[in-house]
This record gives sequence, C-alpha cells and structure tokens, in this order.
Amino acid sequence: MLKGKYFMNLQTPIANLSGVGPFVAKKLTRLGIKTLEDLLYHFPFRYEDFSKITPIDKITLNCNVCVKGKILEIKGTRTWQKKMHLTTAVIEDKTGAIKVVWFNQPFLLKTIQSGQELYLAGKARMNKDGVFLSNPVYEIADEINPTKHTARLVPVYEETIGLTSRWFRNFFAKNLPFLSEHLVEFLPSQIIQQYNLLPFKEALWQIHFPQSLQMAQKAQNRFAFEELLITELFVLKERLKINQQKAPVIDLKLEEIKKFVQSLPFRLTDSQKKCAWQILKDMQKPHPMNRLLEGDVGSGKTVVALIAILNCIKNGYQVALMAPTEILANQHFKTAAVLLKKFKVRIALLTGKKDLLISQKISYEKDGKMLLETIEISRSKILEKTKKGEIDLLVGTHTLIQDKVKFQNLGLVIVDEQHRFGVQQRAKLNQKSDILAHFLSMTATPIPRTLALTVYGDLDLSVLDQMPSGRKPVITKIIPPQKREEAYQFITKQIEQGNQAFVICPRIEPNSPENTESLLERKNIWAEVKAVKAEYEKLAQEVFPRFKVAMMHGKMKANEKEKIMRQFQNGKIDILVSTSVVEVGIDIPKATVMIIEDADRFGLAQIHQFRGRVGRSDLQSYCFLFTNSAGKKTRERLSALLQAKNGFELAQKDLEIRGPGSLLGAKQWGLPDLAMSYLNNLQLIETVREAAKNLLTNDPYLRDFALLNKKINNLGQKIHLE
Ligand code: ADP
Ligand code: MG
Repeated sequence: MLKGKYFMNLQTPIANLSGVGPFVAKKLTRLGIKTLEDLLYHFPFRYEDFSKITPIDKITLNCNVCVKGKILEIKGTRTWQKKMHLTTAVIEDKTGAIKVVWFNQPFLLKTIQSGQELYLAGKARMNKDGVFLSNPVYEIADEINPTKHTARLVPVYEETIGLTSRWFRNFFAKNLPFLSEHLVEFLPSQIIQQYNLLPFKEALWQIHFPQSLQMAQKAQNRFAFEELLITELFVLKERLKINQQKAPVIDLKLEEIKKFVQSLPFRLTDSQKKCAWQILKDMQKPHPMNRLLEGDVGSGKTVVALIAILNCIKNGYQVALMAPTEILANQHFKTAAVLLKKFKVRIALLTGKKDLLISQKISYEKDGKMLLETIEISRSKILEKTKKGEIDLLVGTHTLIQDKVKFQNLGLVIVDEQHRFGVQQRAKLNQKSDILAHFLSMTATPIPRTLALTVYGDLDLSVLDQMPSGRKPVITKIIPPQKREEAYQFITKQIEQGNQAFVICPRIEPNSPENTESLLERKNIWAEVKAVKAEYEKLAQEVFPRFKVAMMHGKMKANEKEKIMRQFQNGKIDILVSTSVVEVGIDIPKATVMIIEDADRFGLAQIHQFRGRVGRSDLQSYCFLFTNSAGKKTRERLSALLQAKNGFELAQKDLEIRGPGSLLGAKQWGLPDLAMSYLNNLQLIETVREAAKNLLTNDPYLRDFALLNKKINNLGQKIHLE
C-alpha cells in the first residue's frame, strides 16, 4: 500500500500512497484531497442500484439494468460520417441475447474479448436497428473478487477531469482491506454502543461499498455523528479552557453609562438595553466573556458595543475593535469618535496601507455637518502608544491581531462580522498572557438554531431582535418581467430626487458533479463577472444613460472595491451594479433602492441581508426582486420576504426549503458537507451535544481518547486559521 520508506497514517500525503503518482495526486488535490484521510472521507454522493441481475429477456427500455452473460462477438466500426467510433458486441445469457453499443471507447476492443463472462450495467435503448444496451459499465465476472462497478449498489463520486468514479472504486476496493490495521476506531466505545453507531472500519466499508441502502445510511449517520461530535467537543473544550482563564473584572460604571445613553441622539430599544446589560454583567466576572451579539443589519449593534467599550475604558482598560474591511473600520472609528466625544476617550485607527490617524477634536459646520479633526501619526507611534496604554480604543481591520500590536492592559476585544478567537489568539494581544481579554463577536448573519448550537456552541448569545423605532420598513416587491419597465421608471424618479440604487446580480450556481469545486469556483467568478458586466453595460448605456453607473465584482482588488464603495458613499455614483461582494455593514443613507436580479437564485436570508443595506435613514426605501421564474414555488418562497419579521425566520426557511447548502456563508464555518446535511435534524444535533457534554464531564481533557483529541485539535487549527 505504501511506497518506500514512509510510515503510514491517516495524515500521510496522498502522493506517498501506492497507486497514486504525482499526476493523480495533482488531480486529487483539485478535489481538496491532500491526505489519506481526505481520500477515505471522499464519500459517494449517491449510489446506482445495479444490485439485481436482470435476465436478458426481462430487460425493459430506459431503466437501469445489470445483466450477466457471455460475449458472443465484439467489433469496432466507424459511423458513416466517420465522426464516431462504435464498439458493438452481443451478450447472451440463458434467456436470450442483446446487442451492446459503446461510443468512442475503442480501447474496449483490447479489454473485452468474445467468450468472456461479463457484467454490464446501464440502460437499454431502442433505435431503428432494434434494442441495445447503450454505453453500459462493464466488469469482467470473476468468481473470486466481489464486483465494484456492477452487480451491486455502485458508489458515484464527485469527479474531476481524468479521475472518474471508476478510479475511486478501484482504489478503495484494492486498498481498504490493506488499510485495516491503520484504521483505528477513535470514537469512545461507550459512544458507539450508546448511539448504536457503526464502528469506523465497517462504516468506511459500508459507505463506499454498501450492502444495502440502509447500511449506507447507517454509515452516513456514523460519519455525520462523528463530524458533529468533533465540532461540539472542540467548541465545548474551548469554552472550558476560557472559563478556567482569568480576565479583568470590569465594574459597572453606571453613572457614565447613563450619561452616555442620555447623550445619544436616539432612545435605545429594549433589545439594545437587554443585550448591553447581558454584556456588562458578563464582564463583571473574573473569567473572560465569550459572547456573540446577533442582530439583523441596522438593529444597532454598534452602539451596544460602544456601551461595553466605554465601560471598559472607564475601568482603565483598553479595547480593540476589529472590522472586516478598512471602510468599515473607518466607519466605526468615526462613529466612536462622535458618540464618545464628551467622554475623553483616546481613539486611534490603525489601517493597512496609510499611516495612522488619531482623533482629537470634533466640531460642527454651520449646517450641522460634522467635522472630525484627526491627525496623522506614524504607525510605529500608534503601536508604541498602544503598548504604553496611551490609547484607549484601537480600531482597525484584522491586522490588529498581528504580532506587533501589543496592549498595555487590554480588557475587551470586539470583532464585527464573525471571527472566532481562540485562547491563543487572545493571549497574543495581551502583554500578560495569564489574563485574557473579554471577547465580543458581532454578526448580522442569521443562522438557524442547529447551526448556532454547533458552530457557536462555545459562545453565549445575545440577540437584538428588535429594530429601532421610527424606521420605515423597506417596501419589498416581486417584479415579473412584464413590470420591469415600470420599476425602472420608478428608480429613475428616485435618483432624480438625489437617491441612490444598488443592483445585485447572482452568482451562477454549480451545476455538474464533474466540475471540481475549485474549477467551479473559478468558472463561477468569470461567469459572474460576465453577468455583472453585461448588466452594467445595459444599465449604463440603455436604461439609465443620464446617471452615473458603476460596477463592482469579485475579480477586483480589495482597494479597487473600497474605492468604488467610497465613491458610492460620497454620492459620486448613482447606481452600483455588483455581485454579492457588497459590504454588509456599510452605511449609505441616500441608498433607497435595492434591486436584486434573478432573486430566485439567492437564499432568503441573503436577500434579507442585501435589503438591509437600504432603509438606513428616515427615507422610505424599496427592494425590488426581479425574477424570470414564473413558478408558483418561487413566488411562494420569495413572498416569505414580504412577511418575515427577521433574518432568523428566513434562515430557518432556507434550511427547510433549500437545504443547508443554501445557508448564507455556509462555507466559512468549516463544517464538512456530511455534517452540514444533517443540520435539519435538531434532535440529532441536541443528542450529539449531550454526548459531547457527557464525555467532557467525565474526562475534561479527553486523556483516555488521544486519537479523538488529535482530531479535535486539527479542527481547531482549521477553524482558527480561517
Ligand atoms: P448594525 O446592527 O447593522 O451594525 P448599526 O449599529 O450600524 O447597525 O446601526 C444602524 C443605524 O441605526 C446607525 O445609524 C445608528 O446610529 C442607528 N441606531 C442605532 N440604535 C438606534 C436606536 N435605538 N434608535 C434609532 N437609531 C438607532
Ligand atoms: Mg454593523
């Protein structure tokens, strides 16, 4: 099985396996397969049922059949146009004979000889010359070895050019028996028993070559359980680790907080008060807070964060606030500077390219327009001041977690839009590593409960389930093709009034299993760019020639995208045509129209997020869902957007209707496909969570389960490196 001197385990690189040369290894890499483990976990996505042998006289047209018989004759011909090579044969069993035709596979003449016993699996078709088996899969009948490609449930794998399902079957059939000694069960035996799971070796065998569909299902169950359990154990262990750490006790500075809340230009919603309270209480404990603040776009997460920030600073601790992009970091910096103006907070912005700004003073022009006076100082100076504790709030992108940034006494780390922080990353930011900062993550991505339990199981949740009052709900309309002109006229009027519009075009969904993921990804981006360009040209030249139209897509560099967003923000662009790359949290008060092309291709939660980008001021805003699909189902699904109260409801609907693959941001949680496909199953998720909790209660460090522990740590690395 193994080449040369290498000692094999599940982490052995595929290139070191026999039967896998560098050539094949490269192809496997395209499927994301790098190690033996990846290869073994490349599960079939379906099975063809060829388990029954059909007597030749019982063959029905256009149905899957598998016959066993003797080849009477075989020959190659060319079609009269000479375009196609045909291999024709006749196969006979006790009940009769049937013609067989293979297209463009001349090599079969070398592999198959007349007189041979064969299995053929495929469909019978009919043309003017009669009935024939069309392009069947063949396998030489051999009394010793069980079949792999025919006469059984045949596994079908995700393929890549030059690497077919046949290759995978051959590999597994040849190697699984030899691998046995290396395939050690790593799940605790009590778990296997209690939850009636298939043991590792058997599950592997049954998932690749199942005896029956029930066994295939059982094998899938085992692997889904395993993947979910590892994820749960990881998050729960992380939680334990954090609970054992010390954190600064942040007292409640009630007077300051009251002053701050009263100074705001609006009243906090009850939801904001509740969440702020939960956060403040949590930070009073001597252990690090690990909390996720979830709330729809526009629900007002920033000001909740600012309450925590102010309280922390008034306790003499520093705060790091991280945003996913520079524009957003800028926006947070400004918001913090304005709202904390009276509170003597020293705020700095650390950006990637330019040196730094530190805000000093805010003044107002006659018309009430705010002037933010900032001074630029060098990056090194900012770093020095941060280290000395002379900056209270440092705002930036994720560059803040780089090694060079050190704090004197960091009390709180806030991350906008999903980033998970492990104990080590937090320790890195601190001067003293025996005390961890509190951690607050904020997200507008609505996820269903099952997913929250799984991937955010280590975080406590605060949910903003209420929108600030006085905000006008975005008027949402489904627009069929015949109403498009009318919608364009409406948009023209909006822009004439000085408002702005977004036009979002979808990505093209994956279609064929032959395409590898990375290949698809590349193809998709190009298809997407093409679609956006076409839409942009149409709108700029034909529909809105009088207005400034710009476009943005995934092929542009980050700074190009930022530049366009900035121009849009400054009103230099009227209509922005874009793919889904538009920033989530950006504030564009004058944007009042959101158009979504081919809306049926998006998940509901995603559309909801797009919609959240308009309606961020007191202007009435609109969301137009363009769709060419006349189907009743599409309309029903989209109309959920007209009624839903929040994004969570929509995420749940997406999960129910379109399955877990459609969940917004599904990729970034790092859950394997199989585990994802079980997210509909709340009961299973809760069972797994119970199992994980019990395991850790008895053995918090999983000392008895070294192999399992290793898997958990591997996952940890993946998650934290995202
Ligand atoms: P998000 O939750 O998407 O991050 P923001 O914090 O950016 O939302 O808030 C969106 C807008 O709503 C901001 O302009 C903010 O000043 C405003 N806002 C926040 N809370 C309230 C409130 N209670 N009443 C009115 N406006 C609010
Ligand atoms: Mg935000």
